[in-house]
Amino acid sequence: MINRQRLVDEFISLVRIDSLSRQERKMADALLIKLKDMGYDPYEDDAGIKIGGNAGNVICRIKGAKDKPALLLMAHMDTVVPGISKKPAIEGDIIKTDGTTILGGDDAAGIAVILETVRSLKEDGVPFGDLYVAFTVCEEGGLYGARNLDLTKLPADFAFILDEGGPIGYTAVKAPYYNKFEAVFQGRAAHAGVEPEKGLSAIMMASKAIATMPNFGRIDEESTSNIGIIRGGEVRNIVCESCRIEGEVRSISEEKIDRFTGEILDHFKKVAESLGGSVQINLERMYPGFDIKETDDIIRLLKKASEISGIPLQLCSSGGGSDTNIINGAGIPAVNIGVGMEKVHSKDEFIRISDLEKACHFLTAIIKATYEM
Ligand SMILES: [Zn+2]
Repeated sequence: MINRQRLVDEFISLVRIDSLSRQERKMADALLIKLKDMGYDPYEDDAGIKIGGNAGNVICRIKGAKDKPALLLMAHMDTVVPGISKKPAIEGDIIKTDGTTILGGDDAAGIAVILETVRSLKEDGVPFGDLYVAFTVCEEGGLYGARNLDLTKLPADFAFILDEGGPIGYTAVKAPYYNKFEAVFQGRAAHAGVEPEKGLSAIMMASKAIATMPNFGRIDEESTSNIGIIRGGEVRNIVCESCRIEGEVRSISEEKIDRFTGEILDHFKKVAESLGGSVQINLERMYPGFDIKETDDIIRLLKKASEISGIPLQLCSSGGGSDTNIINGAGIPAVNIGVGMEKVHSKDEFIRISDLEKACHFLTAIIKATYEM
């Protein structure tokens, strides 16, 4: 049985631990002890060293029945700022802070739900296949913990990441690919008053390039782009030599993100050349997207879990990246399931105790459905 009081106590104890990105040491230590106390043999990987943090991912195998599909259950240990000295308070069904920090239900809720679900499954003697638990570092900082997971040690058939907002049953089955780019327009400096004709303004070049760029903003229903930063110039009386812009492109479709990004960057080159200047471009795929099809086995599992638990399933598309992107990109079908967190990344963040409880029921149903698969 899901133990409501134990779940709440666990959640509160996790919220009280400071765990900003790359500073998850105390959280990792606490989770290693909790998992050991539960009778398992958790370990920490070397992701912390690789990314310049003070803790690695906490990983644990919970042995289950042979010949059943194995599941990877994930939540991230880090929080955004302001996340130091969080003071959780319970008001009826709601847990929130005193308003000076975030709550960090993103993603302490995911961790608490995984721990409570595993505890109750064991107590109830419910059979399950192998479970791999991974609590990652530095998700908020760029999915760096998940990127550095050694997935050969986590041979799961399906992965469920517990890091989504919205009501329980709300499940992200799509999320965009993400490209970031930097374009440095290069012109020529000259005295702006004495001989401006000898100069070539990089600011003018960048402005023209952006003003006429294709694929700006909302491109189509599954693709977007943005220019988020523009920096150039030193002083008013020098024709600007160099101007840097930074932008992004997102799309659920890999073919589209490649095409749209290519069109934007080609356009920048053409504009720069047509004006007699040049542009240097850096493009980086930050993370892959995913688009789980209605007919995929993991959706069948979710539907079955919805039936077992009586919790309605709502399949949705996410606009951002999460550890789910990395796991899907590595070839394990993964979805991001709701754990009830609300107004995340703000001081108004809160969570309902009833949602935490319901999330445990939903995860229990997923584990049962997997066993029966
Ligand atoms: Zn999160």
